[in-house]
Amino acid sequence: MNRILDTVDVLVTGGGVSGCAAALAAARAGAKTMLVERNGFLGGIASSSMISNIYNHYIARDGRQVMRGIGVEVADRLVARGAGTPAWKFPDGRLVHDPEQLKLVLDEMMDEAGVRVLLNTLAYDPIVEDGTVCGVHVDTPDGRFIIRAGVVVDTSGECDILWQAGAPTRYAAGLSTLTFKMSNVNLEALYLHFKAHPETFPIGIDAMKNFDEFQDVWLNRNVLYFPHSGGEDWDLFQNAIKAGTFRKEIGQIFGMDSSCIIGMKGMDTAVINSQFWRIVSIDPEVVSPAELEAHEMCYYVADFMRRTIPGFEHARICQISDELAIRVSRGIVGEETFDKDERTVRGDIESNDPTANGTDIEYRILRSVEADERYKKSDDQLEANICVPDVIACRPQQKNFKLTGEFVSNYTVDIPFGVMVPLGVENILSASGKGVSAVPQTMLRYQSAGMALGQAAGAAAALAVQKGVRVRDVPIRELQALLLKQDVYLGDEARLKTLGLV
Ligand SMILES: Cc1cc2nc3c(=O)[nH]c(=O)nc-3n(C[C@H](O)[C@H](O)[C@H](O)COP(=O)(O)OP(=O)(O)OC[C@H]3O[C@@H](n4cnc5c(N)ncnc54)[C@H](O)[C@@H]3O)c2cc1C
Repeated sequence: MNRILDTVDVLVTGGGVSGCAAALAAARAGAKTMLVERNGFLGGIASSSMISNIYNHYIARDGRQVMRGIGVEVADRLVARGAGTPAWKFPDGRLVHDPEQLKLVLDEMMDEAGVRVLLNTLAYDPIVEDGTVCGVHVDTPDGRFIIRAGVVVDTSGECDILWQAGAPTRYAAGLSTLTFKMSNVNLEALYLHFKAHPETFPIGIDAMKNFDEFQDVWLNRNVLYFPHSGGEDWDLFQNAIKAGTFRKEIGQIFGMDSSCIIGMKGMDTAVINSQFWRIVSIDPEVVSPAELEAHEMCYYVADFMRRTIPGFEHARICQISDELAIRVSRGIVGEETFDKDERTVRGDIESNDPTANGTDIEYRILRSVEADERYKKSDDQLEANICVPDVIACRPQQKNFKLTGEFVSNYTVDIPFGVMVPLGVENILSASGKGVSAVPQTMLRYQSAGMALGQAAGAAAALAVQKGVRVRDVPIRELQALLLKQDVYLGDEARLKTLGLV
C-alpha cells in the first residue's frame, strides 16, 4: 500500500495552460489545491512545443473583449515582462510569446495563489470508490504515493486519468507536429522580400488576407506571422516540389510545405510548424518511431528553408519540441457536447471517425472544402446566439477564414459546463480544451479556450468541495457568480439579467 502524500480539496493532474488555470481558480476560490505535472516545468505543450502563439479568441470582430479571466492575466503578465507582444487586443490578433518565460509567469501565479505544485510527478491509476474518484496514485522521484482529493481536474491533455477511471471517451486521430525553433533568422529580410513581391504572399488557412495585413501586423504589432499552410500557396515551395528538390510528403508525414513561421520583432528566432503526422497518438509502437523520424524531418525542412527562404540564409535549428505535439486525441463523452456548428448538444453525438486520418473537420472547414450556410449570416447580432443556461465562458464564433476573410465574428458562443462533466464517473472533470466533449474534438483546443475551461473547472471543483456536493451537481448560478467574481465574461448586461446574475 502506497503512503498518503497529502489530502487536498482539489487535485489537478497536468500543468499545461488549462491545468494551471484550473489550479489558480480553485486556490483563489479558497480550496486547498495541488497540481501534479510529469515534466519539470509548467506550461505543457505551449512551453515544451513552443506553441508561442495564443490564438486570439478574446476579442470579437466588433472590438468587445469577450474572453477574460486568467487567460487575459497570463497574457498581460507576459507582455509586462517583455515576453509577449503588447498590441494583441484586436480581432484576429495573435498573442505571440516567449514559451520559456511562459513557464516563469505560470510559476509566479501559482506561487501567489498558494497552489502546491509537484513537478516530475506522474499521476496514474485513480482511486475510484463506488463510482466516485477520491484521489490518484503518483510516481515521484521519491517513490510512489497516494494523493486523496475531493475533486480531481484532469488536464493531462489526453484524459489519461479520466480514461483510467473508466469515464467513456472517444478518440480522434488529430494531427501531430514536431515544431522547431531556428536562430540567426533575419525576420526583417523576409518581410522586405514580400514587400518587394507582395503578389507572391500566400493566403494560409488561418491568417493574413493579403500582404497588407502581413505588413500591418509586422510593422504595428511586432509579429511576424507566416500562415499555416502558407507554403502550399508559395511558388518557392511549389516550384521546388515540382523540380523534385523538396518533398511535401514522406511516409506518414505530409504538409512539409506548410511552413508556418512565427516570430517577434527584436528577436532573431522563429518557430516553424511544418509537418503533420497521420498517426494513432496513443499507441507507443506507432509514436516512438514517429518521434525519431520527426527529428530528421525538422532538419530536412530547416535545410530547405536555409537554402531558399530570404532571411534564413544563416539560420540554424536551436531547439526542437520535447515531443511530437498532439492537437487532439482522447476526449470525454460529456453530459453536453460542443458540435461543429458551435452548438451545444445534450447527450452523446456521433463520434469523429478515428480512421479518417488527415481529414480533421476543423481543417476541412478552414480550407473551405465545405461551404456552410452559417457563414452567410449577417453580422449585426451580438449575444443572439447565447442560449445555454449553464454557460461558463464565451468566445467569438469562429468564421471560415477563406470564405469570409475572418477568423472571428461579432457573435459569441457559449461554452457550457456539461462539456467538462464525464458520463458515468463522479468528482472528476475534464478541462483540457482538447479533452472536453466536442465533435470534432478540435473545437475548443486552443490555448484561450483551455484557460477558460480550466478556470471554470477549478472554480466548480472548489465550490463542490465547499458545498459538499458532487461536482456534477454544483449549483450553476453559484458557479457563474464565482466566475464573474474571477472576471470571467458570461455575456452582456441583458444576458446576465436573464441568467439572474445581476
Ligand atoms: C502543433 C500544434 C500547434 C498549435 N498551435 C496553436 C496556436 O497557434 N494557438 C493556440 O492557441 N493553440 C495552438 N495549439 C493548441 C494548444 O497549444 C494546446 O491545445 C494547449 O496548449 C493545450 O494545453 P493543455 O493544458 O490543455 O494541455 P497540454 O499542454 O498538453 O498539457 C498537459 C500537461 O499534462 C501533463 N501530463 C500528462 N499526463 C500526465 C500525468 N499522467 N501526470 C502528470 N502530468 C501529466 C503533460 O506533461 C502536460 O504538461 C497547437 C497545438 C499543437 C499540437
